[in-house]
Amino acid sequence: MDCVFCKILNKQIPSKFVYEDEYCFAINDINPKAKTHILVIPKEHIVSLNEVKDFELVKNLFVAIKNITKEQNIPAFKTHINTGRAAGQEVDHLHIHILAN
Ligand code: 5GP
Ligand code: ZN
Repeated sequence: MDCVFCKILNKQIPSKFVYEDEYCFAINDINPKAKTHILVIPKEHIVSLNEVKDFELVKNLFVAIKNITKEQNIPAFKTHINTGRAAGQEVDHLHIHILAN
């Protein structure tokens, strides 16, 4: 599949995982817009929030965010999801941005 995040998950594109669990993985954004800019990405290829059927998945992503920010000692952060091209979604594989300065 021609999806950059699936390719990263499948190690076709090298990228260091800063977190991984059963449901998702996290990487540092290649073009950071804050001092800390992490992407939390489900292992399942889902295009966007509009395509989510089982919201248990979204819960799992937020559990990962809690784990990552705790592990990395980030007490204050923003989370951001772009849904749809017109809203700025560039990669058509659901992901949550974690941003902290
Ligand atoms: P979106 O605009 O779709 O919400 O966010 C996509 C994000 O993925 C962007 O912030 C962009 O910098 C990041 N990104 C795109 N390609 C790669 C890549 O190959 N590696 C990493 N680490 N980040 C990427
Ligand atoms: Zn994908």
